Amino acid sequence: MASVTNLDFINVRLPMEDEGHLFRLSIRDGVWTQILKQEGDAAPPGAVSLETWNPTQAFLDSNRPIIDLEGKIMLPGFVDAHMHLDKAFSLTSVENRSGTLEEAVQNYSQASPSFSKQEIKSRMIRSAMQALSFGTTRIRTHLDFNLRVSREVALRTIEAALEAKEALAPYLTLQLFPMCPYNFMSMDVDAIEEALRMGVDGIGGAPHLSMTPKEDIDYVFKLAEKYDVPIDLHCDETDNPAIRTIEHIAYRTKAEGYEGRVTVDHLCALASMTDQDAHSIIAQMADAGLKAVSLPAVNLYLQGRHDSFPIRRGVTRLKEIWEAGIPIAVASDNIHDPFHPFGRGDLLQIALISSYAAHMGRPDDLRTLLRMITDVPAKVLGLTDDAIKAGNEANFVVMDGSTPEEIFTMLPERRWVYSGGRWVRMAAAKTKWQDNTLARYWDEASREVSFHKHEFAKG
Ligand SMILES: [Zn+2]
Repeated sequence: MASVTNLDFINVRLPMEDEGHLFRLSIRDGVWTQILKQEGDAAPPGAVSLETWNPTQAFLDSNRPIIDLEGKIMLPGFVDAHMHLDKAFSLTSVENRSGTLEEAVQNYSQASPSFSKQEIKSRMIRSAMQALSFGTTRIRTHLDFNLRVSREVALRTIEAALEAKEALAPYLTLQLFPMCPYNFMSMDVDAIEEALRMGVDGIGGAPHLSMTPKEDIDYVFKLAEKYDVPIDLHCDETDNPAIRTIEHIAYRTKAEGYEGRVTVDHLCALASMTDQDAHSIIAQMADAGLKAVSLPAVNLYLQGRHDSFPIRRGVTRLKEIWEAGIPIAVASDNIHDPFHPFGRGDLLQIALISSYAAHMGRPDDLRTLLRMITDVPAKVLGLTDDAIKAGNEANFVVMDGSTPEEIFTMLPERRWVYSGGRWVRMAAAKTKWQDNTLARYWDEASREVSFHKHEFAKG
């Protein structure tokens, strides 16, 4: 299938590289070989638009057409640094009447023994593929590990996840992080080691929920070191500013020389603290080389449930953490489950929600947010080959839009996704209008409308 793994593009917009130029790109055997700046638009004879390109047609190298992106945006495949694929689409069987994190945890824990391995695997494949359809090509998923019920129930999810990972491996990369249950020191801890022996990618948990958070954190570090895997912990997902497991995680990371291998997620408590306290914690995070993930959609939904007005919204200090030089990604978290009844696995939608939640809407902010769903989460996952750069494997998403302003405004449905050396999604026809008059009005009016970047006055 040389015709699919060898591709040439012109008039590509790469907002992560240089917005002032269009680019000419080439892929050979699924690897980027050429990234060249163009001088203005190019129109080589025989070029075809993405809409008319037929990826199933075989071509000789000598007459393979160049694909004209007509100025559309291409981004590296999105990286979702924090999902719960095994829980996705469980809302039909697990409710959450209060809308609190506590009820979600409790109800899911009660229901989890009834989920078969096949059901968990199907939910994972369905939700991962949905994310892939929007342009996500790498995912780190946390996994329920209900050791409180039994070793068998806990390991069932691991088996399902390993099977889903293998089935999807040709199309997207999954990293699996089982969540050590809280207060797990009194349980069959060998089951956690068994999961690590079975081949999961790292170790997770939510020590802020534990009665003995320091001991839990210390044990997680001990296991991570024994199996030489990274750590990724839900951290202080609460409105209570007195809960600060982050400090012990930062301390332990430095003490064990684990800098760069520990990720902390949520950090909602930071949003309830005084500036002074928060700045001290952010400095400790930077000093310990921690990486971070914010989950704005789910935090907006679950946090503040015990407040009367003014109601806290739980989203961490996204901008301040970023400005402290800490790699912080934004990610999906839960989809249609008791933790979050919405979500569709679309990181562009999450970036937009983050923009609202963190007051990040200026032109520079939108570009930072694009990094928070691409190269920053790649760093969280420990990947170094994610960029659109010669020598890297080609994983990308093309959006029907020509500026970051346009794609944040329109959240384009029309996307073309290439992953693992093949097209995995092609967008449908260009016009959505069945009525010819409306189609003509749309085309004419759209030519007059622009989404180009405008600079605001400083200050
Ligand atoms: Zn989570």
